[in-house]
Amino acid sequence: MRTYEDSYRHKGLRKQLVELLRTKGITDERVLAAINNIPRHYFLDSAFDKVAYEDRAFPIEADQTISQPYTVAYQTQLLDLRTFEKVLEIGTGSGYQSMVLAEMQVQVFTIERQKKLFEVHKKFELRKRYPGIKYFYGDGYEGLPTYGPFDKVIVTAAAPYIPPKLIEQLKPGGKMVIPVGAGDIQRMKRLTKKSDGSVQEELFENFSFVPMLDGKNG
Ligand code: SAH
Repeated sequence: MRTYEDSYRHKGLRKQLVELLRTKGITDERVLAAINNIPRHYFLDSAFDKVAYEDRAFPIEADQTISQPYTVAYQTQLLDLRTFEKVLEIGTGSGYQSMVLAEMQVQVFTIERQKKLFEVHKKFELRKRYPGIKYFYGDGYEGLPTYGPFDKVIVTAAAPYIPPKLIEQLKPGGKMVIPVGAGDIQRMKRLTKKSDGSVQEELFENFSFVPMLDGKNG
């Protein structure tokens, strides 16, 4: 069961989380403000209420996870977002990352491959606060060809390789932030598509995501 009440205690815990993220190297104030504005405990069963503002990943429905706040902040910061950009997210999961993006005044398109998560999320209370987010049930390896090209792409599952269709759907000058690796640990990469179509790659820290799987489920 979930409860939707944002108390002073929750707000205080959230401020502490934001300060922790600052000490861990998150400097983009818009990212920190987004995290400060979103009641993360709404995304978890009320049994987890006390730990919702620890910097940890948590289990959600269908054996999936809500990413660790540091990971969400880190990927969002690497996206280098500008207002009104079109952003494609692979792996809606709990919807937390999508709402962080929406707080940053960008147009969010998000894809989830698990039918159950996609359906459960439709009833989520916080969705009303972000009516602009567009949710899709589908396979992230395919992207969203009819809605692209995108300024930014964020992949929130471990990709064994860089999906070529996601590169195709990036605008020239566009960026993709993606954890790449087939094992337990992945390397965060930022790819920038040049105007001649070539791709420049930057390497960042290691992370551990649930795998990006093939095809739809459900
Ligand atoms: N962004 C999420 C993180 C969820 S974990 C959040 O903020 O909570 C990763 C999610 O990616 C899972 O929900 C998983 O089902 C989904 N996923 C895995 N492979 C996928 C694919 N090929 N296409 C779309 N979603 C996928």
